Amino acid sequence: MADYTNLRKSFLARRFLLAILFLIPLFFGIGLRPAQAQATYPVYIVEYGDTLSWIAQRFDTTLDQLMTLNNIQPDDVLRPGDRLQIPSLEGMQGVLTTEYVTLGASLTSLSRRSQTDTAVLVKANRLTSPSELFIGREIIMTTQENGSYMTTMPAIKPGQSFLEASVLSGKNTWLLAEMNGLASPTMGMPMDTYYMPSTEENGSNLALPGVKSIVLDNLPLYQGDTFLIEVESDQPVTIHADLASIQPTFVDLGGVQMAYGGINALTEPGVYPLTMTVTYPDGSEYRFDQLVMISSGNFSIDEPLQVDPESIGTEEEKAENDKFKSVIAAVTPAQYWDGLWYSPAQDADCIISQFGSRRTYNDNPGLYYHTGLDLGYCKGTDVYAPARGTVVGVFPDQVVRGNSIVIDHGMGVYTTYMHLSEILVEQGDIVESGQLIGIIGTTGRSTGPHLHFEVDIQGTPVNPLTWLRREFP
Ligand SMILES: [Zn+2]
Repeated sequence: MADYTNLRKSFLARRFLLAILFLIPLFFGIGLRPAQAQATYPVYIVEYGDTLSWIAQRFDTTLDQLMTLNNIQPDDVLRPGDRLQIPSLEGMQGVLTTEYVTLGASLTSLSRRSQTDTAVLVKANRLTSPSELFIGREIIMTTQENGSYMTTMPAIKPGQSFLEASVLSGKNTWLLAEMNGLASPTMGMPMDTYYMPSTEENGSNLALPGVKSIVLDNLPLYQGDTFLIEVESDQPVTIHADLASIQPTFVDLGGVQMAYGGINALTEPGVYPLTMTVTYPDGSEYRFDQLVMISSGNFSIDEPLQVDPESIGTEEEKAENDKFKSVIAAVTPAQYWDGLWYSPAQDADCIISQFGSRRTYNDNPGLYYHTGLDLGYCKGTDVYAPARGTVVGVFPDQVVRGNSIVIDHGMGVYTTYMHLSEILVEQGDIVESGQLIGIIGTTGRSTGPHLHFEVDIQGTPVNPLTWLRREFP
């Protein structure tokens, strides 16, 4: 598009001309079908690096159709920010976005939220079955540009009708029924999720009485990833969750219950069930299941390591492993950290071995993986606490781990520091983010000076980089 403004003008001119052409028959009473809504198409906003053929392919259309609908000439140049209507997605409105399927989302709820017919959503996302809407899957949706969102309506309480709930929300009942695909307000059901226009976005797809929102955070999930389930409620509910056989412990932080879980780095990539049960004070229960996608961590495979055979799988090593496991087992019901974590060795460039890489020792067939992040010398040899916590383990001269420290950050989240040359804290110390706790060394099973930094959640090692790159919650 050499001159985008001109293109837009000519496009509008064409539209105007078309409008006149359509009006002429009406004046002469020839009667085009009246009230036939004009076809709507969603808008794709061109991003840096996009090409027309890539966009055509992505939305399952042809280059010709894309160029025709948007009046693009062969020598036009595509620019980031250009707006293209997508011919294959007729019936969708607004701006196309990709997002991840979140907890509780269904084809119906997505259709209500995006005000798009389910058939169009199915086509846009090439769905062949509703079960494909697993949590963490990327989906094509639309958003409106005028700052208005569709947000969940307060839950219909038992004994209440859609009519009452919608009146309480202060909106037009019939309009809300129509927006939610109901033939009439009497068709509304309790426990179903309805949407209403709002100026605020609401991440929750579930409408449970007394529960304001339930969110599964840190999507999409990968092998060795951290997940967080956050439940906001205005009455005391008991939550139980099971994701791929991980049952995270919920901690009540005053109106918000949070549970952190860790996905084992050896979990086969695939789709796993998440089951959640919400139990009310009167004993009544609400349970739902949804599938969650766990993607490959794309871990590398390290060269087989040659180490002293005496140091592999010994009684001493087992005892050491058991000791560390027991130290990190308890879930302290408080969150000690605040905000983004501080890098324990202060420079991301000095990573010498990533979390999750597959390892073999002495060509043994057994599969091991790297349970932490190895940091070499960075801006010195100092080791800092990444976040507030209590020192719960000070272990000098361990066979595998060398001089090591364990810190409890609360919520079942622990960090461990291995192979230190010096330990500068004591058991029971409360350390702050950025506090000096030790010096990098090469004690224990180590081939050179480095810090093995490990994050465990309820006993499962997770990728430490997640914690250094995003804030939890
Ligand atoms: Zn390591």
